[in-house]
Amino acid sequence: VFREVPQAAPVAVFKLSQDFSNDQFPKKVNLGVGAYRTDEGQPWVLPVVKKVEKIIVHDDRLNHEYLPILGLPEFRSSASKIALGDDSPAIQENRVGAVQCLGGTGALKMGAEFLRRFYNGNNNTKTPVYVSAPTWENHNAVFANAGFEDIRSYKYWDAEKRGLDFAGFLGDLESCPEHSIFVLHACAHNPTGTDPTHEQWKQIADTMMRRNLFVFFDSAYQGFASGSLDKDAWAVRYFVSMDFEMLCAQSFSKNFGLYNERVGNLTIVARDADNLKRILSQMEMIVRTTWSNPPSQGARIVAITLNSSELFTEWKDNVKTMADRVLLMRAQLKAKLQALGTPGTWDHITEQIGMFSFTGLNPKQVEYMVKERHVYLMASGRINMCGLTTKNIDYVAESIHEAVTK
Ligand code: PMP
Repeated sequence: VFREVPQAAPVAVFKLSQDFSNDQFPKKVNLGVGAYRTDEGQPWVLPVVKKVEKIIVHDDRLNHEYLPILGLPEFRSSASKIALGDDSPAIQENRVGAVQCLGGTGALKMGAEFLRRFYNGNNNTKTPVYVSAPTWENHNAVFANAGFEDIRSYKYWDAEKRGLDFAGFLGDLESCPEHSIFVLHACAHNPTGTDPTHEQWKQIADTMMRRNLFVFFDSAYQGFASGSLDKDAWAVRYFVSMDFEMLCAQSFSKNFGLYNERVGNLTIVARDADNLKRILSQMEMIVRTTWSNPPSQGARIVAITLNSSELFTEWKDNVKTMADRVLLMRAQLKAKLQALGTPGTWDHITEQIGMFSFTGLNPKQVEYMVKERHVYLMASGRINMCGLTTKNIDYVAESIHEAVTK
């Protein structure tokens, strides 16, 4: 019965990691997958996470009963609070709710499923969904799989000036059909590492409000852009203050280092408390037929941390440790390329923020890096700055130099 099943293409970033694992070259470097590494090139279990895991193991009141369909209440509320701020009027007005999801991906998926069913009419598969050009490779597919038929991209990256194509972005906001859905990266845009300024965000919000566009924030790197959770939530909070009804998918994979625990949250900012109640009732229906109810371990770790002022402070410190190491690697990589006299300007490496840098290397140069130098990066030229260490940075800089000058 499965004779006709066609072979699907491998997922690029996972294939890259597999190729890296199979490579026997001693100086190989993995700059592909977006995961934090220490300066020893190792995964990092955040010290605060280790501490909370011990608390959980020793807490005899905890068990493995099912969680509610929408997830752990104290996780959902504290997660929404770090996105919207402790003093958010929308939270005080009881019109903010949340669904615990399987990672940021799950939160996007839940949001997409809900929007397809209920946004601006029923089963509205024709509503255009706009994602940035370029964007995280999964955005298109998540919305397409939820049933949206018209996925488009909005202008974002100006390759020539290696920066935001703000005029193009605004132009697309002006010319798209009313009520289109826009997926916006809350901070530390993946893959370009380039975010709008506050002034630009304000113009984006004004245009979206005037044109009745729907905003769906994707917040996968809160804390990674600036090292400060509040600063990184500026855009989301600004949109809430402008009275948008909106969704925000949050991932705790990166900022808690809980990649394989699948901890995500979908924050819903509704018109009023009654509307929120009805929205959540429908979310329950969607979750029930998808994963029925979510896993608890990662959500407990996050909830315990966010609900204790002492652990919360420790977590913020841990996030800053990661963000600072990225900044150091940015500065060092730029300095090394400049010292080597590598053609081109490399200021964008320190101007870009978050986990990734969009190097500007073209596909041929990327191929050279992978094949000849065993430095693994995405075909787009995106590198994970966390894959750089004080031990491999010279080798990587020399590899980039060779790829550019050969
Ligand atoms: N959105 C963006 C922009 C991402 O980069 C990622 C992770 N690479 C996600 C969402 C998904 O996060 P998670 O791993 O928690 O599903």
